[in-house]
Amino acid sequence: MRKAYSLAVAACTWFVDTLERELAPKRCVYCNVPTRPPERFVCEGCDADLPRIDAACPGCASPVVATLPAGVRCAKCQAAPPPWTMASAPFEYEFPVDAAIKAMKFRRRLDYLPAFDDELARVELTGDVDAVVPVPLHRWRQIRRGFNQAEELARPVAQRLRVPMTGLVRRNVATPYQSGLDAVSRRRNLKGAFQVSKDASGGHVLLVDDVITTGETLRGVTKALLDAGVERVSVLALARSVSND
Ligand SMILES: [Zn+2]
Ligand SMILES: [Zn+2]
Repeated sequence: MRKAYSLAVAACTWFVDTLERELAPKRCVYCNVPTRPPERFVCEGCDADLPRIDAACPGCASPVVATLPAGVRCAKCQAAPPPWTMASAPFEYEFPVDAAIKAMKFRRRLDYLPAFDDELARVELTGDVDAVVPVPLHRWRQIRRGFNQAEELARPVAQRLRVPMTGLVRRNVATPYQSGLDAVSRRRNLKGAFQVSKDASGGHVLLVDDVITTGETLRGVTKALLDAGVERVSVLALARSVSND
């Protein structure tokens, strides 16, 4: 009897919560004005102003001049090819996307995630993906932050592709914050930082992160995956920082 009663209470609570959520006006995550269908998480005005990358280098996801034929890599990637097969990011790391990513990471604004995922869903990936791997945070940093932003971005991607999201890679050492460091210092910081925890032979891994800055973190994880027997790594990030390259 008591069980039936608590089940009924749980069902009512769920119903009221759902009703509230559905009836509450949905608001744009960037400017907070109420949105109207077909707008979802971003209003039309903000959507038009988002710093989308129209033409990008498939090697480093940096914006390139639209006249460069599709699929051709930028001069930097031709001179020093990255270890992954391809990289994409829908946004430049510019306002308001940069502020939104920082708010998600440092102020737990996880309500941005559906809007971010809508954007990642539009990215065309080449080849079948076998597993989605988020770039790991060191355990202590994750405990302090309460979540890993790369994992939050990667989870719906894996669900959409119907492949597992695995924590194949572990971050061994708590690397100091990377922002503000040049590529050489970042590389020094990250030496031996990543370890693949399981057998990872074969397959195509989609590596997910929030921002590609110098690409050193992604380079470290990609190398660890390839060394462990993964056949191919592609990179998907929400934003590409261009100034810090
Ligand atoms: Zn808006
Ligand atoms: Zn490039």
